[in-house]
Amino acid sequence: MTVRILGGGVAGSAAAISARMRNADVELIEKVHYPRHKVCGEFVSPQAVMLLGKLGVTDAFLGAAPSRLDSIRVHFKKRSRKVKLDEPGYGLSRYVLDDLLFSRALEAGAQHVPLGRERPNIIASGRLPVDTSLNRQFAFKAHFEGPPGDAVEMFFFSRCFVEVTPIEKGFTNICGLAHEHMLHRYGFDFDTFLDRSPALRARIRPLKRQMNWVKAGPIVIDNKFGINETADSFYVGDALAFADPFTGSGLAAALESGRLAGELCARGASSAEYMKQCRAIFLKPFQNAQRIRALLDSGRAELLSMALPASLMFSMTRPRIKE
Ligand SMILES: Cc1cc2nc3c(=O)[nH]c(=O)nc-3n(C[C@H](O)[C@H](O)[C@H](O)COP(=O)(O)OP(=O)(O)OC[C@H]3O[C@@H](n4cnc5c(N)ncnc54)[C@H](O)[C@@H]3O)c2cc1C
Repeated sequence: MTVRILGGGVAGSAAAISARMRNADVELIEKVHYPRHKVCGEFVSPQAVMLLGKLGVTDAFLGAAPSRLDSIRVHFKKRSRKVKLDEPGYGLSRYVLDDLLFSRALEAGAQHVPLGRERPNIIASGRLPVDTSLNRQFAFKAHFEGPPGDAVEMFFFSRCFVEVTPIEKGFTNICGLAHEHMLHRYGFDFDTFLDRSPALRARIRPLKRQMNWVKAGPIVIDNKFGINETADSFYVGDALAFADPFTGSGLAAALESGRLAGELCARGASSAEYMKQCRAIFLKPFQNAQRIRALLDSGRAELLSMALPASLMFSMTRPRIKE
């Protein structure tokens, strides 16, 4: 059978590699040319690292010299918390990571098709369509030069979230997600916007921006867990469910859903079987993330930091992926 995959990002490439591991013919429909920058915090969680291993790309990943990260530092308005990671995570730009995975899929025998003519069976085309509500969020990122630090740092302020991640070659990625009205107040000038948080200002002061800001949005934090029961396509990655960026689990979710869909689709299993497994892995942690996000958005982040150890915040939102 031919496995047709719409989208050759992280999830689509993972699906392609996984289906090729089962000797299926694979068509990978991707419209962009790699490498390219992508808005992302660029933190590759320990789970994502394990999944890269399952796809046989550990050597290529480590060969790209990602920055090793042993802890996460979380900054609320007045408090900071450090979470030691059980296994190391890494910082690697999407410029490198996506290119690496897409190239690996092609090396494994997937055929790159720039435009799909036949109906794909795996949908890996990224986030769900645009949010039309008034409460829209936008994301942005840029790479900086300067002292990289030894941890991924997360800043929560004014219902905004900013992630500072040391990546390859001594660069640091700064990526944020903020509500439109807030960004509008600063004329969408991200440098001025970031200056409003004292903790973030101190972190950014020694750094120098190396590229123009890349923007994305509106961002919708949503999922297809409830509505895909009868669909015959396999939705993977952000097209299945968009992981709230603060969880740091988006790449792991994309890799695991892609890997699983590639395997099941190549074996001729039904999408209902796939969705059953996906719900067991992702539904609870994603619901927990929504609850935590609601607390953060209600302005109770400081309270949350006192009531909930930061390590629990991450373990509650981590997909239940088998090693
Ligand atoms: C602000 C922010 C910060 C984040 N930080 C992190 C983080 O630090 N760590 C983490 O693990 N996750 C993070 N994430 C989540 C992570 O970026 C996503 O979960 C991940 O990119 C999902 O990958 P994907 O392959 O599903 O989608 P994508 O990476 O969006 O790939 C979709 C692909 O499909 C292609 N495509 C779409 N439509 C078509 C079409 N019609 N024809 C052909 N090709 C098409 C696109 O060109 C694209 O290459 C963050 C997300 C945001 C928004």
